[in-house]
Amino acid sequence: MTTTQRQKPVFRFAPSPNGPLHLGHALSAFINQDMAKASGGRLLLRMEDIDLTRCTPDFETGIYQDMDWLEIDWEKPARRQSEHFGEYQATLQTLIERGLVYPSFMTRGEVKAEVTAFEANGGSWPRDPDGSPHYPPHDRGLTQAERGERLGSGAKHAWRLDTKRALDELGAKLDWAETGDGETGTIKADPAAWGDVILSRSDAPSSYHLSVVLDDALQGITHVVRGTDLFHATSVHRLLQSLLGLPAPIYHHHRLITDASGRKLSKSEGDTGLAELRAKGLSVAGVRQLVGL
Ligand code: GLU
Repeated sequence: MTTTQRQKPVFRFAPSPNGPLHLGHALSAFINQDMAKASGGRLLLRMEDIDLTRCTPDFETGIYQDMDWLEIDWEKPARRQSEHFGEYQATLQTLIERGLVYPSFMTRGEVKAEVTAFEANGGSWPRDPDGSPHYPPHDRGLTQAERGERLGSGAKHAWRLDTKRALDELGAKLDWAETGDGETGTIKADPAAWGDVILSRSDAPSSYHLSVVLDDALQGITHVVRGTDLFHATSVHRLLQSLLGLPAPIYHHHRLITDASGRKLSKSEGDTGLAELRAKGLSVAGVRQLVGL
């Protein structure tokens, strides 16, 4: 990397190859490209493929084809998260050694049963900004001996951030610079709203939060441009960046493309795929118009 490259703004488009891309992805890729061009910056492509059961080479190939068709000019090669599990694990290990991460053993079903029972008795269980219940506190309170015993017995587990302890250790208020379509300026981060997030899954050696934060830093990303559905997740990202001594990019959360009923487009529900639009012979200008650019 040359000195000039290092000083340029760096953007990234970071899709997960777990389904065909749709118009919402096209909007995100265009905005990344437009902002990179306008600032004389660089645009990188990252495959967020830590979920080895849902991500496939065919979906990845489809993404490259869509990028070509949309004439998105990104710097080759793409970074593939599945090739960097060792790095994510090494970072996780440092957080485990600092006592900021603990093994969690409850299944989703067990968590649900506990929350349901609690709420049946009139209680109100805390939920994260996506509506999922916070992870119950039991595993956080296990002694080292109890943890060792359960891990030693081969119990299936994920690794979770002890968010309260992490915030206590930092002792500082966190915020981020936002330039997107909603609230802009300095946004106060609220990582506690997420409870103890997963940093390494039982079925994958990392998590979205851990790998996105590490990759943004490793790739020197200066501007994170993505949909407003990830606005609140930025609180977790800022906490991890601070714990790991990583720089904070500028964030730009853009509007989402919704269907006629106002629902966010999704890959799994078979929404307007780019491949179909490509097959219909739509032009780049036509797609830009469809996404309101
Ligand atoms: N991989 C995420 C997605 O496809 C995007 C993550 C990000 O831009 O931070 O929704």
